[in-house]
Amino acid sequence: MRVLVVEDERRLANIVKRGLVEEGYAVDNAFDGEEGAFMAETTAFDLIILDIMLPKKDGVMVCQELREKKINVPILILTARDSIEDRVKGLDAGADDYLVKPFAFRELMARIRALLRREVSSKSADLEVGDLIMNTVNREVKKGDKPIELTAKEYAILEYLMRHPTMLVTRAMIEENIWNYEFEGSSNIIEVFVGRLRNKIDKEGENSFIQTVRGAGYRLKSA
Ligand code: CA
Repeated sequence: MRVLVVEDERRLANIVKRGLVEEGYAVDNAFDGEEGAFMAETTAFDLIILDIMLPKKDGVMVCQELREKKINVPILILTARDSIEDRVKGLDAGADDYLVKPFAFRELMARIRALLRREVSSKSADLEVGDLIMNTVNREVKKGDKPIELTAKEYAILEYLMRHPTMLVTRAMIEENIWNYEFEGSSNIIEVFVGRLRNKIDKEGENSFIQTVRGAGYRLKSA
């Protein structure tokens, strides 16, 4: 999951980024409205956290412009405590939800999860493909009854695959979704992570749960 944080207060922006990265999200920061709008228009984010009071272009305008350009990424706006006006304007401009500053990080995470759930047909916290179940709230993964321990990056890759269960997922898609702009990994890094996932998930002697589509990418083996 790739998140853009548009927030000019560097301290808050860094706290939010660090917290999200710890939860396995790939995070990019923009520090003014113009930069935020540009990044949102040129990169496929799964979610945007958008402050209202921003230099160069305010959050309401950014939101409005993105919606006019048919960019339908979920947007969570951040507003000051006393500005009901901002919240109303933001929601009217096409934001999906808002959070009032100062906020608890746990609430931010819960709202992000709720927004991401809206994007899929199921409202459940569980993603299920075959006998593989991922609980996106407590981040537990099970294959049948067997709990599977994953690192943050392994989890993020598996989550992306499970959110697109019938699709051919290319390495470029994974790379764009799991890593931020700062990423400079080696070209085979995704293969390395997929290999580790297979070691943890697959049963010996069975076809891999994560099938390789030669020269193209990966697809999950359906139930
Ligand atoms: Ca601000």
